[in-house]
Amino acid sequence: FVNNIEEFFTFCNENDVQFVDLRFSDIKGSWHHLTYRYSAVNAENLENGFPFDGSSVENWQPINKSDMLLKADVPTAFLDPFTADPTVILICDVYDIYKNELYERCPRSIAKKALKYAEEIGIADAAYFGPENEFFIFDDVKFVDNINEMGFKVDTEEGEWNSNTGYDEMYNTGHRPGTKGGYFPVAPTDSMVDMRAEMMQVLEQVGLEVVLGHHEVAQGQGEIGIVFGDIITAGDNVQKYKYVVKMIAHLNGKTATFMPKPLYGDNGNGMHVHQSLWKNGKNLFYQEGNYGNLSEMAIHYAGGIFKHAAAVAAFTNPSTNSYKRLIPGFEAPSILTYSSQNRSAACRIPYGAGEKATRIEMRFPDSSSCPYLAFAVMMMAGLDGIKHATIPVGPMDEDLFELTLDEIREKNIPQMPHTLREALEGLIADNEFLKPVFTSEFIEAYQHYKFERDVWPDEGRPTAYEFKTTYQ
Ligand code: GLU
Ligand code: MG
Ligand code: MG
Repeated sequence: FVNNIEEFFTFCNENDVQFVDLRFSDIKGSWHHLTYRYSAVNAENLENGFPFDGSSVENWQPINKSDMLLKADVPTAFLDPFTADPTVILICDVYDIYKNELYERCPRSIAKKALKYAEEIGIADAAYFGPENEFFIFDDVKFVDNINEMGFKVDTEEGEWNSNTGYDEMYNTGHRPGTKGGYFPVAPTDSMVDMRAEMMQVLEQVGLEVVLGHHEVAQGQGEIGIVFGDIITAGDNVQKYKYVVKMIAHLNGKTATFMPKPLYGDNGNGMHVHQSLWKNGKNLFYQEGNYGNLSEMAIHYAGGIFKHAAAVAAFTNPSTNSYKRLIPGFEAPSILTYSSQNRSAACRIPYGAGEKATRIEMRFPDSSSCPYLAFAVMMMAGLDGIKHATIPVGPMDEDLFELTLDEIREKNIPQMPHTLREALEGLIADNEFLKPVFTSEFIEAYQHYKFERDVWPDEGRPTAYEFKTTYQ
């Protein structure tokens, strides 16, 4: 791993590098790349940028202003573990040559600006993020959609469903985890042991600090625990993590997906995000003796996120599918309160974490978000909460999935938006808190793009399930 351009060339020569792969993230969070021959890379283009066509990336530049630059962040250099020839990957920021500044729609640049803003207003000089990206490995699950709209199993050709005996007496399902059965019996029920091991080893090769891997609750679902990082490193790590997980699955003849809710009736994929703000080497979220040892500042930070939840969700839960995950009963909370230990609240405070590790865990985000944007938006909402001393509802330690709608209303507990439309409408109505970092032009373009690409086509599209529910 390298610190500067000189070390970069030494690193490349030592590893007989043939290609330099330049990567950047679009606003969906998808990683794009462009491969240079090593001989064409020099100190000058590393310093000044590499040109590319910014008009062919979804929702970026118009065709008549398409020339953009990729500015390599040289210390991000690492070897691509999957190419036949030695290839070094460089993570880049996108530069707008017309305005002579970091591009206003470059997510990684937006995250950088958000951190700078926290410093400028004197609140924090470091922000740590610990995302947990869950995934499914498909081809590895046999899923039969035999659950009806009430969540009960229905009759299939195999025989009648019996609420006392289930199907188990009717046919042998083999050593498969079954619905919510994945957490976490050993092999052969867990058939992903070696694949996760391979993933964990390769993740270390590309510079992530791996702690553990395990099967998750749903059938065919997995998770690998990575050490947190500063806002940019944590975003880079999510991009590397998704790349490695998908590639290892692919090389094993499987398909990995981070889709929030691929299976009806089973747990979905979350991207819980642990967060803390620091200043002068001190954790600002820690206050010994308080509830969960959380400082007032941490409570206000959560309050800000909850207050702006709809607008935040437009970035942290940016798919129509995201909202199919946020329903009670699947560890994916929609109730905006905080609690120590409680996994049914949108914000959990991990128990007994101590001074350095005290943090909050936001549990509603998912991996269909662009990590840089998701982190930046949560931080902007959190900083706004700190500035206005916003008090969230809570703490609430009961099982919130048991609450009825009436109780939620009575207690005045705010909830996550229920659809992407609601989230985007929230963003349109409430975006002042983003303005110090996000341009109005970007917010406007973003919501328009999401309506056009996600919401309208989804709302106007008949689904298979409607053939069942519609009297025709
Ligand atoms: N899969 C759950 C989710 O959708 C989370 C399970 C867990 O607590 O790790 O958020
Ligand atoms: Mg998990
Ligand atoms: Mg978690």
